[in-house]
Amino acid sequence: MQKITVEYLRERILGGACDLHMHTTASDGGSTPALLAEEVIAAGLRTIALTDHDTIEGIEPLHQRLKIIQASRGISTPTLISGVEFSVDWENQKVHLLGYVPEEICADLQPYIDSQQQKRRERNIQMCKRLEKLGISVTIDEVEAVGNGQNAGRPHIAKLMQRKNYVASLQEAFDDWLGKGRPAYVPRRSAPLEEAVQEIRHCQGVAVIAHPQKYGWTKDRSTLFGKFKRLKEVGVVGIETIHGEMPLNISRFIADVADDLELLKTIGSDYHGNTKPHVRLYTKDDDFSSYLA
Ligand SMILES: [Zn+2]
Ligand SMILES: [Zn+2]
Repeated sequence: MQKITVEYLRERILGGACDLHMHTTASDGGSTPALLAEEVIAAGLRTIALTDHDTIEGIEPLHQRLKIIQASRGISTPTLISGVEFSVDWENQKVHLLGYVPEEICADLQPYIDSQQQKRRERNIQMCKRLEKLGISVTIDEVEAVGNGQNAGRPHIAKLMQRKNYVASLQEAFDDWLGKGRPAYVPRRSAPLEEAVQEIRHCQGVAVIAHPQKYGWTKDRSTLFGKFKRLKEVGVVGIETIHGEMPLNISRFIADVADDLELLKTIGSDYHGNTKPHVRLYTKDDDFSSYLA
Protein backbone atom coordinates (compact mmCIF):
# COMPACT_ATOMS: atom_id res chain seq x y z
CA MET A 1 0.00 0.00 0.00
CA GLN A 2 1.29 3.45 -0.88
CA LYS A 3 1.37 5.43 2.35
CA ILE A 4 0.27 9.02 2.01
CA THR A 5 2.69 11.06 4.07
CA VAL A 6 3.98 14.60 3.97
CA GLU A 7 7.29 13.27 2.61
CA TYR A 8 5.59 11.32 -0.16
CA LEU A 9 3.47 14.29 -1.22
CA ARG A 10 6.46 16.63 -1.13
CA GLU A 11 8.39 14.26 -3.37
CA ARG A 12 5.53 14.07 -5.86
CA ILE A 13 5.03 17.85 -5.81
CA LEU A 14 8.70 18.61 -6.33
CA GLY A 15 8.80 16.01 -9.10
CA GLY A 16 6.70 18.46 -11.15
CA ALA A 17 3.71 17.86 -13.43
CA CYS A 18 1.59 17.60 -10.31
CA ASP A 19 -1.95 18.83 -9.65
CA LEU A 20 -3.55 17.82 -6.34
CA HIS A 21 -6.95 19.51 -6.53
CA MET A 22 -9.63 18.81 -9.14
CA HIS A 23 -13.31 17.97 -9.41
CA THR A 24 -15.52 15.75 -11.56
CA THR A 25 -19.26 15.45 -12.10
CA ALA A 26 -19.28 13.39 -8.88
CA SER A 27 -19.47 16.83 -7.25
CA ASP A 28 -19.70 20.13 -9.12
CA GLY A 29 -17.08 19.62 -11.82
CA GLY A 30 -17.98 19.59 -15.50
CA SER A 31 -15.90 16.58 -16.57
CA THR A 32 -16.89 13.00 -15.95
CA PRO A 33 -14.14 10.81 -14.48
CA ALA A 34 -13.66 9.33 -17.99
CA LEU A 35 -13.21 12.77 -19.55
CA LEU A 36 -10.94 13.93 -16.75
CA ALA A 37 -8.73 10.90 -17.40
CA GLU A 38 -8.21 12.13 -20.96
CA GLU A 39 -7.61 15.68 -19.79
CA VAL A 40 -4.95 14.84 -17.21
CA ILE A 41 -3.14 12.67 -19.77
CA ALA A 42 -3.30 15.43 -22.38
CA ALA A 43 -1.85 17.82 -19.77
CA GLY A 44 1.08 15.47 -19.31
CA LEU A 45 0.57 15.32 -15.55
CA ARG A 46 2.50 12.73 -13.55
CA THR A 47 0.65 13.05 -10.25
CA ILE A 48 -2.96 14.00 -9.70
CA ALA A 49 -5.42 13.93 -6.82
CA LEU A 50 -9.17 13.89 -7.24
CA THR A 51 -10.77 16.00 -4.52
CA ASP A 52 -14.50 16.20 -5.14
CA HIS A 53 -16.61 18.04 -2.58
CA ASP A 54 -17.81 15.67 0.13
CA THR A 55 -17.67 12.55 -2.02
CA ILE A 56 -15.20 9.89 -3.09
CA GLU A 57 -17.48 8.47 -5.76
CA GLY A 58 -15.40 9.68 -8.70
CA ILE A 59 -12.17 8.07 -7.56
CA GLU A 60 -12.79 4.45 -8.51
CA PRO A 61 -14.14 5.26 -12.02
CA LEU A 62 -11.18 7.58 -12.66
CA HIS A 63 -8.75 4.99 -11.41
CA GLN A 64 -10.26 2.29 -13.61
CA ARG A 65 -10.26 4.54 -16.63
CA LEU A 66 -6.60 5.41 -16.21
CA LYS A 67 -5.77 1.72 -15.90
CA ILE A 68 -7.69 0.83 -19.05
CA ILE A 69 -6.01 3.62 -21.01
CA GLN A 70 -2.61 2.54 -19.77
CA ALA A 71 -3.23 -1.05 -20.84
CA SER A 72 -4.90 -0.31 -24.17
CA ARG A 73 -2.66 2.51 -25.39
CA GLY A 74 0.56 1.37 -23.76
CA ILE A 75 1.22 4.80 -22.28
CA SER A 76 1.99 5.72 -18.73
CA THR A 77 -0.81 7.53 -16.95
CA PRO A 78 -0.63 9.82 -13.92
CA THR A 79 -0.41 8.44 -10.41
CA LEU A 80 -3.79 9.07 -8.80
CA ILE A 81 -4.00 10.03 -5.14
CA SER A 82 -7.39 9.60 -3.49
CA GLY A 83 -8.73 12.79 -2.01
CA VAL A 84 -11.77 14.70 -0.88
CA GLU A 85 -12.59 18.33 -0.15
CA PHE A 86 -14.61 18.97 2.99
CA SER A 87 -16.42 22.20 3.90
CA VAL A 88 -15.80 22.76 7.57
CA ASP A 89 -16.29 25.43 10.23
CA TRP A 90 -13.25 26.95 11.86
CA GLU A 91 -12.85 30.16 13.85
CA ASN A 92 -16.31 31.33 12.81
CA GLN A 93 -15.94 30.86 9.10
CA LYS A 94 -16.29 28.25 6.38
CA VAL A 95 -13.02 26.74 5.32
CA HIS A 96 -12.26 24.06 2.74
CA LEU A 97 -10.13 21.18 3.88
CA LEU A 98 -8.45 18.74 1.51
CA GLY A 99 -7.86 15.20 2.70
CA TYR A 100 -5.46 12.87 0.91
CA VAL A 101 -5.74 9.24 1.95
CA PRO A 102 -4.31 5.88 0.83
CA GLU A 103 -6.40 4.31 -1.88
CA GLU A 104 -7.04 1.13 0.09
CA ILE A 105 -8.38 3.05 3.07
CA CYS A 106 -10.27 5.71 1.18
CA ALA A 107 -13.62 3.89 1.52
CA ASP A 108 -13.34 4.20 5.30
CA LEU A 109 -14.22 7.87 4.86
CA GLN A 110 -17.68 6.91 3.62
CA PRO A 111 -19.53 6.76 6.98
CA TYR A 112 -18.27 10.23 7.83
CA ILE A 113 -19.26 11.53 4.39
CA ASP A 114 -22.70 9.97 4.85
CA SER A 115 -23.20 11.69 8.19
CA GLN A 116 -22.35 15.07 6.63
CA GLN A 117 -24.71 14.34 3.76
CA GLN A 118 -27.47 13.59 6.24
CA LYS A 119 -26.96 16.98 7.93
CA ARG A 120 -27.23 18.75 4.57
CA ARG A 121 -30.39 16.82 3.74
CA GLU A 122 -32.00 17.78 7.05
CA ARG A 123 -31.26 21.43 6.33
CA ASN A 124 -32.86 21.17 2.88
CA ILE A 125 -35.93 19.54 4.41
CA GLN A 126 -36.25 22.39 6.91
CA MET A 127 -35.98 24.98 4.14
CA CYS A 128 -38.64 23.17 2.10
CA LYS A 129 -40.93 23.17 5.14
CA ARG A 130 -40.46 26.89 5.64
CA LEU A 131 -41.19 27.59 1.99
CA GLU A 132 -44.31 25.42 2.19
CA LYS A 133 -45.60 27.53 5.10
CA LEU A 134 -44.91 30.63 3.03
CA GLY A 135 -47.04 29.28 0.20
CA ILE A 136 -44.22 28.01 -1.99
CA SER A 137 -44.50 24.34 -2.72
CA VAL A 138 -41.17 22.60 -3.22
CA THR A 139 -40.47 19.13 -1.87
CA ILE A 140 -37.20 17.55 -0.86
CA ASP A 141 -37.62 14.93 -3.60
CA GLU A 142 -37.95 17.65 -6.21
CA VAL A 143 -34.92 19.49 -4.85
CA GLU A 144 -32.81 16.36 -4.94
CA ALA A 145 -33.98 15.60 -8.47
CA VAL A 146 -32.72 19.04 -9.53
CA GLY A 147 -29.43 18.21 -7.80
CA ASN A 148 -29.24 15.11 -9.98
CA GLY A 149 -27.15 13.09 -7.58
CA GLN A 150 -25.01 16.04 -6.54
CA ASN A 151 -25.13 17.39 -3.03
CA ALA A 152 -28.32 19.42 -3.21
CA GLY A 153 -28.48 22.81 -1.56
CA ARG A 154 -29.85 26.33 -1.88
CA PRO A 155 -28.88 26.79 -5.57
CA HIS A 156 -31.00 23.75 -6.41
CA ILE A 157 -33.95 25.02 -4.37
CA ALA A 158 -33.62 28.37 -6.16
CA LYS A 159 -33.55 26.69 -9.55
CA LEU A 160 -36.69 24.76 -8.67
CA MET A 161 -38.46 27.92 -7.51
CA GLN A 162 -37.64 29.54 -10.82
CA ARG A 163 -38.80 26.50 -12.76
CA LYS A 164 -42.11 26.56 -10.89
CA ASN A 165 -42.46 30.29 -11.57
CA TYR A 166 -42.35 31.40 -7.95
CA VAL A 167 -39.44 33.70 -8.82
CA ALA A 168 -38.14 35.24 -12.02
CA SER A 169 -34.48 34.54 -11.31
CA LEU A 170 -32.11 32.66 -9.02
CA GLN A 171 -31.04 36.00 -7.59
CA GLU A 172 -34.62 36.80 -6.65
CA ALA A 173 -34.95 33.44 -4.89
CA PHE A 174 -31.93 34.28 -2.75
CA ASP A 175 -32.80 37.95 -2.21
CA ASP A 176 -36.38 37.32 -1.17
CA TRP A 177 -36.39 33.84 0.35
CA LEU A 178 -33.22 31.83 0.69
CA GLY A 179 -30.47 34.32 1.48
CA LYS A 180 -29.11 34.78 4.98
CA GLY A 181 -31.76 36.44 7.13
CA ARG A 182 -34.56 35.80 4.62
CA PRO A 183 -37.67 33.86 5.71
CA ALA A 184 -36.77 30.42 4.33
CA TYR A 185 -33.10 30.57 5.32
CA VAL A 186 -31.77 27.90 7.64
CA PRO A 187 -28.14 28.23 8.68
CA ARG A 188 -25.83 25.54 7.48
CA ARG A 189 -23.87 23.74 10.11
CA SER A 190 -20.71 22.23 8.76
CA ALA A 191 -18.55 19.90 10.78
CA PRO A 192 -15.85 21.50 12.89
CA LEU A 193 -12.49 21.50 11.13
CA GLU A 194 -10.92 19.60 14.02
CA GLU A 195 -13.39 16.76 13.53
CA ALA A 196 -12.67 16.43 9.80
CA VAL A 197 -8.92 16.57 10.44
CA GLN A 198 -9.25 13.75 12.96
CA GLU A 199 -11.29 11.74 10.47
CA ILE A 200 -8.65 12.17 7.76
CA ARG A 201 -5.89 11.21 10.18
CA HIS A 202 -7.89 8.23 11.33
CA CYS A 203 -7.84 7.11 7.68
CA GLN A 204 -4.05 7.48 7.63
CA GLY A 205 -4.32 10.55 5.50
CA VAL A 206 -3.02 14.10 5.54
CA ALA A 207 -5.07 17.27 5.90
CA VAL A 208 -4.31 20.36 3.82
CA ILE A 209 -6.01 23.77 3.80
CA ALA A 210 -7.44 24.56 0.36
CA HIS A 211 -7.12 27.99 -1.30
CA PRO A 212 -6.07 29.97 1.81
CA GLN A 213 -6.29 33.23 -0.15
CA LYS A 214 -10.09 33.02 -0.01
CA TYR A 215 -10.61 33.49 3.71
CA GLY A 216 -9.39 37.04 4.32
CA TRP A 217 -6.27 35.85 6.11
CA THR A 218 -3.67 37.36 3.80
CA LYS A 219 -4.12 41.01 4.73
CA ASP A 220 -1.11 40.92 7.02
CA ARG A 221 1.61 38.55 8.07
CA SER A 222 0.67 38.16 11.71
CA THR A 223 -2.91 37.19 10.82
CA LEU A 224 -1.73 34.57 8.34
CA PHE A 225 0.95 33.27 10.67
CA GLY A 226 -1.54 32.97 13.54
CA LYS A 227 -4.04 31.09 11.38
CA PHE A 228 -1.46 28.65 10.03
CA LYS A 229 0.04 28.12 13.47
CA ARG A 230 -3.31 27.25 15.02
CA LEU A 231 -4.16 25.00 12.07
CA LYS A 232 -0.91 23.16 12.55
CA GLU A 233 -1.72 22.71 16.23
CA VAL A 234 -4.93 20.87 15.34
CA GLY A 235 -3.25 18.53 12.87
CA VAL A 236 -3.28 20.31 9.51
CA VAL A 237 0.03 19.53 7.82
CA GLY A 238 -0.15 21.37 4.52
CA ILE A 239 -1.23 24.57 2.84
CA GLU A 240 -2.30 24.90 -0.79
CA THR A 241 0.28 27.40 -1.98
CA ILE A 242 -0.28 27.32 -5.72
CA HIS A 243 -3.96 27.43 -6.69
CA GLY A 244 -5.77 28.17 -9.94
CA GLU A 245 -7.30 31.38 -8.63
CA MET A 246 -4.39 32.62 -6.52
CA PRO A 247 -2.17 35.48 -7.72
CA LEU A 248 1.50 34.54 -7.55
CA ASN A 249 2.41 37.36 -5.19
CA ILE A 250 -0.01 35.80 -2.69
CA SER A 251 1.54 32.38 -3.36
CA ARG A 252 4.90 33.87 -2.47
CA PHE A 253 3.52 35.28 0.77
CA ILE A 254 1.83 32.01 1.69
CA ALA A 255 4.94 29.98 0.84
CA ASP A 256 6.98 32.21 3.11
CA VAL A 257 4.70 31.79 6.11
CA ALA A 258 4.26 28.07 5.46
CA ASP A 259 8.04 27.72 5.46
CA ASP A 260 8.33 29.47 8.81
CA LEU A 261 5.98 26.87 10.26
CA GLU A 262 7.43 23.93 8.32
CA LEU A 263 4.12 23.19 6.64
CA LEU A 264 3.88 21.24 3.39
CA LYS A 265 3.28 23.48 0.37
CA THR A 266 0.91 21.93 -2.15
CA ILE A 267 -0.28 22.72 -5.67
CA GLY A 268 -3.85 22.35 -6.91
CA SER A 269 -5.62 23.99 -9.83
CA ASP A 270 -9.13 23.36 -8.44
CA TYR A 271 -10.10 22.42 -11.98
CA HIS A 272 -13.88 22.19 -12.48
CA GLY A 273 -14.00 21.53 -16.22
CA ASN A 274 -16.55 23.58 -18.11
CA THR A 275 -18.43 24.60 -14.97
CA LYS A 276 -15.57 27.00 -14.16
CA PRO A 277 -13.97 27.63 -17.54
CA HIS A 278 -11.45 30.23 -16.37
CA VAL A 279 -9.60 27.64 -14.26
CA ARG A 280 -7.40 25.22 -16.22
CA LEU A 281 -5.57 22.10 -15.15
CA TYR A 282 -1.89 22.47 -14.49
CA THR A 283 0.36 20.80 -17.06
CA LYS A 284 3.82 19.35 -17.37
CA ASP A 285 5.01 22.74 -18.63
CA ASP A 286 4.02 24.65 -15.50
CA ASP A 287 6.96 25.26 -13.23
CA PHE A 288 6.20 26.57 -9.76
CA SER A 289 9.22 24.95 -8.15
CA SER A 290 10.50 28.27 -6.83
CA TYR A 291 7.33 28.56 -4.73
CA LEU A 292 7.06 24.94 -3.68
CA ALA A 293 10.64 23.94 -2.85
ZN1 LIG B 1 -12.83 24.76 -2.28
ZN1 LIG C 1 -12.10 22.44 -4.93
